[in-house]
Amino acid sequence: MKKLIAGNWKMNGSLAANEALLSALAQGLAVDQPLCDVAVCVPAPYLAQVHALVSSQPALSVLGLGAQDVSNQASGAYTGEVSAAMLRELGCRYVIVGHSERRQYHGETDAVVAGKVQQALAAAVTPIVCVGETLSEREAGQTEAVVKRQLAAVIHANGHCISEIVVAYEPVWAIGTGKTASPEEAQAVHAVLRAQLKAATDQAARVKILYGGSMNASNAASLLAQPDIDGGLIGGASLKAPDFLTIIAAARA
Ligand code: PEP
Repeated sequence: MKKLIAGNWKMNGSLAANEALLSALAQGLAVDQPLCDVAVCVPAPYLAQVHALVSSQPALSVLGLGAQDVSNQASGAYTGEVSAAMLRELGCRYVIVGHSERRQYHGETDAVVAGKVQQALAAAVTPIVCVGETLSEREAGQTEAVVKRQLAAVIHANGHCISEIVVAYEPVWAIGTGKTASPEEAQAVHAVLRAQLKAATDQAARVKILYGGSMNASNAASLLAQPDIDGGLIGGASLKAPDFLTIIAAARA
């Protein structure tokens, strides 16, 4: 399966910084075309800017545009929310759903996350559904139970469409901390998620399961070599063009 390397810019960037980052990526991609799918998930106010830049530079045409969140409602009196149809209209192919920072700081429950996935799928935007355990949950031996519970809510609400999602396993203790799950630790959880998807759909083999959590230019190749790691969701390292390009190159295999 073609791997997917998705950058999560989080709440970073500016009009000038985005242009500089994309032009550095364009230079690298012009020399070395990726053999994997690539996406950048940018703050909502910059979607139109990034869409325009990506559309105007041939070397960037491989970049799929992504958002970082979506409403679990279709439209109406939900001040501040952004709907999946709006994202689609702005050219988004992907949207991150249920990132741990949203579960943690914005109280997103499994049910809310499942509703957001429904909205994204209905608008033909691919949700990148994040699951992952906290450090205390890992230490209590609850990793498997937590990620299975989080994914089960999404499977339950989305039935036969489930093969259209991308899953990202992101141990919370590894996000932005510089601590990475070892390739073996990550693979073990990915295998659990694959088995859960297999029980829900006969298309489980084509669901991409990304690893996220301090993936960087040095550790990407060993993580991406694992049989059930189909790509990466990259935070910090996606803001540095040379690092992001190195990770993209590591996903060739
Ligand atoms: C993320 O935000 O999804 C992430 C994985 O961040 P980082 O790579 O910085 O740990």
